[in-house]
Formats: sequence, C-alpha cells, structure tokens
Amino acid sequence: RLFAVALSGFIADVWIEHDKEAALQRVHSVAESWPDLDHDEFGAAVNAVGERMAHLQELYDIRLLSEDENIAIMERSKELQLIRNLRSIKEAVDVQQKAANLEAINQDLMDRVAHDGLTQVYNRAHFEQVIAEEFEQARKLAWPFTVMLLDLDHFKAVNDTYGHQVGDEVLKSVAHIIKQELRGDDLVARYGGEEFVVVLPGTDEEGAAMLGKRLLKKLAAGSVADYPEFAVSITASAGLAALSKANIFNNQKELIRAADRALYAAKLAGRACMMVYGETAPRG
Ligand code: GH3
Ligand code: MG
Ligand code: MG
Repeated sequence: RLFAVALSGFIADVWIEHDKEAALQRVHSVAESWPDLDHDEFGAAVNAVGERMAHLQELYDIRLLSEDENIAIMERSKELQLIRNLRSIKEAVDVQQKAANLEAINQDLMDRVAHDGLTQVYNRAHFEQVIAEEFEQARKLAWPFTVMLLDLDHFKAVNDTYGHQVGDEVLKSVAHIIKQELRGDDLVARYGGEEFVVVLPGTDEEGAAMLGKRLLKKLAAGSVADYPEFAVSITASAGLAALSKANIFNNQKELIRAADRALYAAKLAGRACMMVYGETAPRG
C-alpha cells in the first residue's frame, strides 16, 4: 500500500516535471522493481491519469500541458511498458536456458567423475560405491552375487615392445570387448592399471565362470580388432569369487580379496586361465 502511494507520486511527476522522458523512465523502472505489480494494471493506471488530465486541468483551472503532449506521454508510456515486458520475457527464457545448461554440465561432470578417462568404463571409486550397495542387497535378499577380476598377462612386455601408446589402445579395446559381453545389471570398472573388475549381481558362480571363459577367449582372439595396424596379441587371467551358501563373506572387501586370491592362483597356474575361489584347478 505504501508502495502504491509512492508509485502514484512518481506517476504524477510525469505530468508535472519538465523532463517528461526522465520522469517516465523513472516511474517505469520503479514499477518494474515491484515484484507483485501487475504490468497491465500499472499501464491502465498511467492511462487513466492521462485520460482524466483534460478534465482535471479544467477543474482546477491549471494548464500543465497540451492535448498533444498528453497523448505523446501516454504513447511513450505504452512503448516503455512493451519494451520492459519483452525484456522480462527474454530474461525468463535466458534463466530457463541457463538452468538447462547447468543441468547438462552437472550431468556431464557426474558422468566424468564416475568414469575412467582412458577406457571410458567406470573407475575404481565408482566401483567401490556400487559394490558396497550391491553386496548388501545380495546378502539381504540371498541373491547370487559374483565378482571377477581380470588382469592382462605380461602387459609390461606389450608396453616395452610396442610403446605405451599402443598399450593404451590395447586397454581401450579390452574395455570395449568386456563391455560388449555384459548384460544390463553387470558393471565393469578399471580396477588398476591393466586390471579390470566385473560386478555380476544376480549371477552365480557357474554363470560367471561361463562368462569368464568367454571373455578370456575373446580377449585372446584379438583385443585390438579395432586397431588392426597393431599386431599385438594378448591374453588375460581371471579370478572370480561368488557369494553362496558355501562361500560366506562378511563384507564386500572379503569378497574382493577372495577374487584377488583366485586371480593370483590363475597367474601361478600359468596365466591365460581362470580360477574360481575355493577350487584348486584352473578353468578355461
Ligand atoms: P602379469 O602377467 O604378472 O600381470 O604381468 P604384467 O606385466 O601384466 O604385470 P606388471 O604388474 O608387472 O605390469 C603391469 C604393466 O601395466 C606395467 C604398466 O606399465 C602397465 N600399465 C599400467 N597402466 C597402464 C596404462 O594406463 N597404460 C599403459 N599403456 N600401460 C599401463
Ligand atoms: Mg598384468
Ligand atoms: Mg596387474
């Protein structure tokens, strides 16, 4: 209400002050800074003053301005209002656009934080987060749950022979091949340098062993199919550990440690094979 009184003073100034343009600019910017003010109602109020001006001048026997000047003021006022309306529409659109951009940037950053820069599979940090949740879930609901570690054999020799860049391309290909073999809920992450971890919720030991065999075969068959100019041949070793009635693990760390032990055993058994935790002979 106070604001309405103040605003009416600014409106009156337009007809009283010598510099009409400055007074009009002022009243419109005051009106704009009032968030609850309906712009159409404000325009109507300015108009109403203009329309009554001839009558008021007669009544008080004063002469503020001519009819033409009065019309010019109202026209200019309408123009200013239109400009401000267009500007506020544009501002609203800009704000929406900025919010959408920020949302996209945020999504992109979240994705990048969870992925490995070289191979584009998930990174170790994301893996740790996922496995903690999945392990709890599997234990609570007594669902099968398997973790498999894959480590490239003699990978140092690949770097030494062909160079680090070729080694990088091989790692990318390996990640690509593993991803292609996985299903919806499965997840692959880069666990370390040339080591990958596959999380298999809902998959038991036998299902995981079948996948492991298939993976080792595919990797040995040509990990650089996407880069045929590099005649590199590689193999991998795998270790898997499954949560089951026979294998009880208290937490995900114990499960990962078991898969790591199985991997170590596969290396000892001669590489290019898979070891299942709890078994003594390699598979594949
Ligand atoms: P093993 O069969 O016992 O696993 O032998 P290995 O040579 O694969 O294992 P080792 O741990 O001795 O060496 C791992 C090699 O992986 C050495 C390292 O340079 C390479 N490596 C690790 N990360 C990267 C990477 O991001 N890019 C490339 N090109 N090489 C990597
Ligand atoms: Mg290795
Ligand atoms: Mg290794």
